Amino acid sequence: MARVLIVGAGLTGSLCAALLRRETARPLHLTVWDKAGDSGGRMITASSPHNSQCTVDLGAQYITCTSHHAKKHQSFYDELLAHGVLKPLTSPIEGMVMKDGECNFVAPQGVSSIIKHYLKESGADICFRQCVTQINLRNDKWEVSKETGSPEQFDIVVLTMPVPQILQLQGDITNSSGTKLLMPFLTLFFPISGYILWLQISYHQFAP
Ligand SMILES: Cc1cc2nc3c(=O)[nH]c(=O)nc-3n(C[C@H](O)[C@H](O)[C@H](O)COP(=O)(O)OP(=O)(O)OC[C@H]3O[C@@H](n4cnc5c(N)ncnc54)[C@H](O)[C@@H]3O)c2cc1C
Repeated sequence: MARVLIVGAGLTGSLCAALLRRETARPLHLTVWDKAGDSGGRMITASSPHNSQCTVDLGAQYITCTSHHAKKHQSFYDELLAHGVLKPLTSPIEGMVMKDGECNFVAPQGVSSIIKHYLKESGADICFRQCVTQINLRNDKWEVSKETGSPEQFDIVVLTMPVPQILQLQGDITNSSGTKLLMPFLTLFFPISGYILWLQISYHQFAP
């Protein structure tokens, strides 16, 4: 079974994990590592230490669906609405500029519930406080080192953190000849794109 590591438990990493699970016929062992103590990345929801019902979204606070994305991603919105993860935003927001064909959604359990939904669906092993520092090729596997603990080996590594943080990584990853594919990845909701750097040893292990 191919071992796949996704680095980053933000929107890009969580959705990537869910789509890999959904779209891949072959059995995969999926693992997600994040250096933070919880999932969400720039869509994190913080809770009051005194009352867990009292939460605040520290990054993105509502989701704007443009007419372009509505067509392309309708099934994703339908799924999140059906699970109660998203609800239409009906209250006015001061200063909000609405364009024709756009609609807005909020996440009643906090915006990080979108990420938690996809991580749950992926069935991946999620490990927090795992800060990746180095990626090297060892015996046809990617050996991934972190700040604490022993390095681990994977067949495929998907990096979903912001590009400046990817560029800080050490090891063979800095040698572009080891990189099979670098592709821009449009995150589900936002016109601002995240980037996925995808490292894989043998595509046939992964292809359906
Ligand atoms: C205040 C704020 C408001 C925003 N509002 C909007 C908005 O209205 N509309 C819009 O389009 N966008 C908005 N955004 C941007 C949106 O939140 C991001 O585009 C989106 O969340 C990015 O998701 P991501 O998964 O690509 O990256 P991230 O959320 O950054 O996830 C990357 C993850 O990688 C982890 N990581 C990084 N380095 C390592 C490492 N070495 N090892 C392990 N893990 C690592 C990080 O901890 C993080 O969890 C906003 C952002 C902020 C901060």
